[in-house]
Amino acid sequence: MKKYDYLIVGAGLFGAVFAHEATKKGKTCLVIDKRDHIGGNIYTEEVEGIQVHKYGAHIFHTSKKEIWDYVNQFTEFNHFVNSPIAVYKDELYNLPFNMNTFHQLWGVRTPAEAKAKIQEQISRMHITHPKNLEEQALALVGQDVYEKLVEGYTRKQWGRECKDLPSFIIKRLPLRYTYDNNYFKDPYQGIPKGGYTRIIKKLLEGVQVCLKTDFFANREELTAQADKILFTGMIDEFYDYCYGELEYRSLRFETEVLDMGNYQGNAVVNYTDYEVPYTRIIEHKHFEFGTQPKTVITREYPAAWEKGKEPYYPINDPKNDELFDKYERRALEEKNVLFGGRLGMYRYMDMDKVIEEALNMAETELTYEEV
Ligand code: FAD
Repeated sequence: MKKYDYLIVGAGLFGAVFAHEATKKGKTCLVIDKRDHIGGNIYTEEVEGIQVHKYGAHIFHTSKKEIWDYVNQFTEFNHFVNSPIAVYKDELYNLPFNMNTFHQLWGVRTPAEAKAKIQEQISRMHITHPKNLEEQALALVGQDVYEKLVEGYTRKQWGRECKDLPSFIIKRLPLRYTYDNNYFKDPYQGIPKGGYTRIIKKLLEGVQVCLKTDFFANREELTAQADKILFTGMIDEFYDYCYGELEYRSLRFETEVLDMGNYQGNAVVNYTDYEVPYTRIIEHKHFEFGTQPKTVITREYPAAWEKGKEPYYPINDPKNDELFDKYERRALEEKNVLFGGRLGMYRYMDMDKVIEEALNMAETELTYEEV
């Protein structure tokens, strides 16, 4: 008999939710992670009394009450509402694109005036079948919004000119004809008091966790310890890249402690012109309405991905999706290996979706086990 029912590779949100549910059902789990901390990309650590989002700004939001109730079991959430600011050269705009933005751009005051202005700019383009991202964006929002708020930011994010990017990257660019700076439409939104790591700690209570343990450094020995594996790392790495490498975009974070109470007056400020090399600056204390004497800011730089760098965003273009299909088909044949999370499923997912997917997997897996 093996020592554990499940070996869970990855102590991120997916692995932790599954481990919690499995433990509740009386299963034994060993969770490993190659990093020196739990939480994966939602990890937060305290600096100067402020919860710092180590891998980029994380705002919890969901439309599903059951998911909101689920996370609220583990910690209390504050009432943070994400209302980012965009800086373009020396101009400042509210996001998402709404009546405040349109007023700042053109001085218009009514939705009818804003709609007429945007419609006039869109029709001037005569774009019926967008051939690339630039044409797609121009056809959706017109010239001014595109040039000041979309072009430079997108170019930085993808490391390519918008003309050279496929149109499918931007399916929609919502325009809001109300004075509403709330970025998310979901009815439930907030930041966990005390940080995200606290949620993961609670989820992993009573579970055996080994950090600084890379699955691939000791694959056979680790596999021998459990009946089944839940793998939340890169699916192509699991299969030794046998069909080829999946591609990602990466990020680089530069964090600084500043000897001042308030640097930018907002949690998230996007820099939309191409000349500024970072895409945004996060001031962490504003996620939790902090009043500490110092502040911590993080500049976020988009970066090319290569093996060894952190894979942040899957590039779900037709080429990569086709490659992933091959890995997925192979994965479906496995009897004792499950794949989950953003890397195992090669899909960007917000935290609420990750929780939902992990709960679904736990339900299918653990109910089936009981029969
Ligand atoms: P991860 O958090 O990546 O966990 C996987 C874990 O597996 C990692 O800890 C990794 O070290 C470990 N691992 C991998 N390979 C191995 C191996 N070989 N051996 C051992 N361990 C291994 N979502 C929101 O809802 N709101 C937001 O505002 C938001 N902002 C985001 C901002 C950025 C910049 C990014 C990149 C994502 C954001 N997300 C946001 C999404 C959120 O980060 C994910 O939903 C979540 O982190 C995914 O959890 P996971 O467990 O699937 O993956």
